[in-house]
Amino acid sequence: MRTLMVLFALTLAATTRAAPVSAPPTGAQVDFQGIIARALSIYVPYMAARGVTLEFVQSHQHGITGSGNRDSETHATLTVDDGYYTNPKITEDGFRFMVCHELGHITGSAPHMEAPAMYDGILDDKGDVPISAEGQADYFAAAKCMRQVLAGQDDVAYVRAHGAPRLVAAECSQSFPDEEGAALCQRIMVAGKNFLDSFARSFPSSFDAQDPARPPYSLLGEHPPAQCRLDTVVAGALCPVDKDAPVDPYDPAAGFCTSKNFPQGARPACWFKE
Ligand SMILES: [Zn+2]
Repeated sequence: MRTLMVLFALTLAATTRAAPVSAPPTGAQVDFQGIIARALSIYVPYMAARGVTLEFVQSHQHGITGSGNRDSETHATLTVDDGYYTNPKITEDGFRFMVCHELGHITGSAPHMEAPAMYDGILDDKGDVPISAEGQADYFAAAKCMRQVLAGQDDVAYVRAHGAPRLVAAECSQSFPDEEGAALCQRIMVAGKNFLDSFARSFPSSFDAQDPARPPYSLLGEHPPAQCRLDTVVAGALCPVDKDAPVDPYDPAAGFCTSKNFPQGARPACWFKE
């Protein structure tokens, strides 16, 4: 009977956690400009300290697109198109993740993007484009930027209000024994999934799957497949390295998880070869 009651209590707790009280804010409920302003308040000074002026450009093409570019040695541009503001699929955290992905390109932690054929822009010391590769932009967004932009929020209350998949909750509580850390981790995973699902042409990905691909070299010139990108979001959210630990443009291990210090939080092998 006691076992039954414990089981019942556990089931109840799991159900409560999985069932959101209300859907997370989308569309007109989202303070898009406030989210951009908060991100810029962190990353404009961050880039200025590295000799780069970061400028925000609002584009009006009604597309669901954003970009993060290094136009020159001293100038970077974050562009967000207004199509996002009317996209019913993106949540406020999904939008945060998008902004963080683009800022991930700009902040330029390793590995960097491979220069495409006919590219005539600036190069880094290794002959790559001086912005983070797509996989790294996702990883930076999850492991660093989301934690920066959400700092000071009550993540426990947010997750209680808007819910998170049971699998996400279980994984996060293994990496983060404290309730606040686990809630932030859940929020980041759900945000990354929403970002991936919000594209006009999105591909399926799932928290209970993993991309089995093992390319012989890191994929640095392209977007990894959707499942691989979600695996990267999950790894970044699980990585317990401090959000303020310095990262490096040439050393992927600096400031992040690796197979040596925390394998569950390391960049997945579906795109990254350590
Ligand atoms: Zn990108």
